[in-house]
Amino acid sequence: MINIAKPIISDEEIEAVTEVLKSGMLAQGPKVDEFQNKFAKYVEAKYGIATSSGTTALHTALVAAGIKPGDEVITTPFTFAATSNSILYTQAKPVYADIDAKTFNLDPAKIEEQITDKTKAIVPVHLYGQPADMDGILEIAQKYNLKVIEDAAQAHGAVYKGKKIGSIGDFGCFSFYPTKNMTTGEGGMVTTNDEEYAEKAGMVRAHGESKRYEQSLLGYNYRMTDIAASIGLVQLKHIDEFNKIRNENAKYLSEGLADVEGITTPVVADNVTHVFHQYTIRVSKDRDTFQKFLTDNQIGTGIHYPIVLYKQPYYQALSITGNCPLAEEAASQVISIPVHPSLTTEELDTIIDTIKKGSEELLQ
Ligand SMILES: *Cc1c(COP(=O)(O)O)cnc(C)c1O
Repeated sequence: MINIAKPIISDEEIEAVTEVLKSGMLAQGPKVDEFQNKFAKYVEAKYGIATSSGTTALHTALVAAGIKPGDEVITTPFTFAATSNSILYTQAKPVYADIDAKTFNLDPAKIEEQITDKTKAIVPVHLYGQPADMDGILEIAQKYNLKVIEDAAQAHGAVYKGKKIGSIGDFGCFSFYPTKNMTTGEGGMVTTNDEEYAEKAGMVRAHGESKRYEQSLLGYNYRMTDIAASIGLVQLKHIDEFNKIRNENAKYLSEGLADVEGITTPVVADNVTHVFHQYTIRVSKDRDTFQKFLTDNQIGTGIHYPIVLYKQPYYQALSITGNCPLAEEAASQVISIPVHPSLTTEELDTIIDTIKKGSEELLQ
């Protein structure tokens, strides 16, 4: 089987973890400090606040942004559940705007019609590693005085018009889950350029403590461990190289699949550096049958994502609604195929040949 994802862990990570274990300092300590500073520098933001996951990074940023029960937050329904769940944790209401059919990202032209006097923030997602249309989003945010919290869980190192993702909105939120472009096992990061936001996010992460055992707001335990941070420090040294290989693999796949009937390859917008967390194609019909064909032929796949969030049973039970036909169409057509940096040229050729065969058998 050619797997859809494969974390790259070398002896360097193993040695780094061993060193931390031997030091006796296991929880948040000097390695977390070093990692959050270096990661912030990498994404060209002033501050980094390391957290226990991408989900807790999002929740931390929303709380630090002042999102409260009853507020509304505009976001995309075509993403991993964590984007919206973190909004629900604050007891605010996620409100969905439709996507751009080409990039799969939130379409700024669809945001304005969703704004009410309760709207407080926009949460765009840089889906599959492709930056969302930040100029369009920031323009609306400025006009209506809204906070912008970027879900950058899939976009470490991505660039929008010369600016690193994570340095553009009020907050950037990253994930270091093992399938992401870089990992710490589990882990996350909030980035921001605002000192007050950074301070507040740090408090939200650790029970609202402004100093030890003095709690000035309701916080959580969302800390990263030094064990995880020591892995992140090694991964950070390699992220540009990982992303470069992801881009080369994507280019190879797009050339090989250019004229295959029934398949649409990813579109990269102008003025961005895509980091191909996923390489996601559209299949013109019978996506699930096509996926089964690939699985039967030893090609790992993923559906990112099969159900728009407002159609998830839990969201329906909460009477959260949405009307995003382009997101719904994408959910029925997309399929992600392997693009990770460990793939060999032979494996990439096998993927291309198998998809061509699948197209001949199922899509003509
Ligand atoms: C992975 C992911 C998250 C959540 O990150 P975790 O580290 O798994 O909590 C949030 N949003 C998106 C778009 C993701 O892909």
